[in-house]
Amino acid sequence: MFARAMHSPRHPILAQIIPTRRCNLDCAYCNEYDKTSEPVPVKTMLRRIDLVATLGTTIITLSGGEPTLHPQLDAVIARIRSHGAIATLITNGLLLTPEYIRGLNRAGLDYLQISIDNVRPDKVSKKSLQVLDLKLQWLAEHAEFDVTINSVLGCGVRDPEDAYRVAVRARELGFPSTVGVLHDHNGQLRPLEASHRAVYDRIVSLGNGLFSFAHYDRFQEAILDGRPNQWHCRAGGRFLYICEDGLVHFCSQQRGSPAIPLEQYTPEHLARYADQPKPCAPLCTISCVHQTAMLDAFREQPRQTLAGILERRRLRDPAFETPPLVRMLDWMFLNPGRRSLFGKLAVRLFGVTR
Ligand code: SF4
Ligand code: SF4
Repeated sequence: MFARAMHSPRHPILAQIIPTRRCNLDCAYCNEYDKTSEPVPVKTMLRRIDLVATLGTTIITLSGGEPTLHPQLDAVIARIRSHGAIATLITNGLLLTPEYIRGLNRAGLDYLQISIDNVRPDKVSKKSLQVLDLKLQWLAEHAEFDVTINSVLGCGVRDPEDAYRVAVRARELGFPSTVGVLHDHNGQLRPLEASHRAVYDRIVSLGNGLFSFAHYDRFQEAILDGRPNQWHCRAGGRFLYICEDGLVHFCSQQRGSPAIPLEQYTPEHLARYADQPKPCAPLCTISCVHQTAMLDAFREQPRQTLAGILERRRLRDPAFETPPLVRMLDWMFLNPGRRSLFGKLAVRLFGVTR
């Protein structure tokens, strides 16, 4: 994924696609579900996967609503993998059983993310540790794919300590954890209260890989402080959101723009919408789009971007030393004289075609 993102600036890095808008929960902050939609017919889903793959998409994420309500999700995942794309799933976890998890293994799922909002269910959310802990244990036992547990802070979260308890439980079970900041109903930013900020810092101090979003938090830092971010959103080009009706939108919070049928979406659309400025960008909290932007930043300004990652890491941990692998990659790829040679070798090694 990284090699392809570096190799070409014009294909989508990530496409989120909705197999059903229906959800079996009703989180108070959510504007992405209903209680009535039927699943998208599997034939239609497979056709959409083929079209998204034809655009050169590297990662295809199944989201919702609750995607596990789709009766043939395994076939959709297998189709994603048949194109050599990375298959990922965002789920509330409620329907996971050992057998279902083994089915996801067989389908070839690469990665699953569960967001857990609190320890005990409340009026805002029933995505609770108490409800989901057994599912997490089953995942630890049976999943052959990567699993990340996301906890949340921000508006609507009653007790910020819950996010820390969720992160600790994730580590106990051997899963990496991330922490997200809940956006408002327009996907826009609200500053974090001091108590939430303190919990965020404790969660990050639990440790993560150097390149995890928690350490490369150029966006997150401003979001936590309620400050706008200066960046160019390339949604519509590097990130696509395909709704249950098969229309391409910029993201879940900008449904209606540009709302072009996937069959009619072309490389010209990718280029045009990637370049189009988005007025919602400064206060945006859509982390998956931020992450595609971070890959582009790495592509365009590798040395400065790497320096930024290391500097942020040192701010949190003054004893931190650059790992030998990172020093070696720096030597290979960030020196103008060697970059071209090692770049070509990497492209060949990873079989990158565009
Ligand atoms: S589980 Fe997810 S899709 Fe369903 S209501 Fe909650 S946040 Fe929305
Ligand atoms: S900046 Fe981009 S990702 Fe964020 S809300 Fe606007 S269109 Fe969506």
